[in-house]
Amino acid sequence: MRKRIVAGNWKMNKNLEEGKKLTSEVINIVADELNDDVQVILGTPFIHLDSVSKLLKDSPKIGLSAQNCSEHESGAYTGETSAAMLTSIGAEYVILGHSERREYFGETNEQLAAKTDKAMEHGLTPIFCCGEALDIREAGTQKEYVCQQLTDSLFHLSADDIKKIVIAYEPIWAIGTGKTASAEQAQEMHADIRTHLAGKYGAEVAEEISILYGGSCKPSNAKEIFAGKDVDGGLIGGASLVARDFVDIAKSF
Ligand code: PEP
Repeated sequence: MRKRIVAGNWKMNKNLEEGKKLTSEVINIVADELNDDVQVILGTPFIHLDSVSKLLKDSPKIGLSAQNCSEHESGAYTGETSAAMLTSIGAEYVILGHSERREYFGETNEQLAAKTDKAMEHGLTPIFCCGEALDIREAGTQKEYVCQQLTDSLFHLSADDIKKIVIAYEPIWAIGTGKTASAEQAQEMHADIRTHLAGKYGAEVAEEISILYGGSCKPSNAKEIFAGKDVDGGLIGGASLVARDFVDIAKSF
């Protein structure tokens, strides 16, 4: 059975004390209320990772993720953070290709292929984001667009490596807008992504890859969205900043 995952993306929110408080709240609620069959992940700003990692030491049910990493190994890249640095402080996952990084920082499919390789070389699991803007959805070419993102950034991987990736489908028009894809729209795209993966790697491999939905997911809509047979959980932005809401989403399977 595929892993069910609910990952929070805090983005550039919370100072360190606030981030530690949120982490402790999530730890407590998860310990009391969550089944072992859901993997919860906290995607914190770089500066929080070390402290959050220490808080998570006795909470094996909760993983730790960065929100980006460099495609370079080390060296003169001012302001960048390497995959090796992330693993050295206990991060296990890294969100790659979030639409905000693509849009505001110009990250390309090719650069994301290099970031994916570097992350995996250092044992990080990429949570690889894909998704279309509103004009693409309105033109009806979202499937081709999203599949091309995956082809360009991931299809150089071996079958063994692609199985380790987590994919997050995040329609850009639904991120932070309060506008959610319908459960049918989410399931349809997740099934298209899985078919695309199967076309390259075979059905058995495609069946093993967790595909998360992201875009205004909340406790009130998570159950319906997660009911899709190809929806294996969520990448959660705004609602991951409130412990109660975040864990309630993780309880929505
Ligand atoms: C995100 O940015 O990954 C996201 C899904 O944000 P939100 O849940 O706030 O729409």
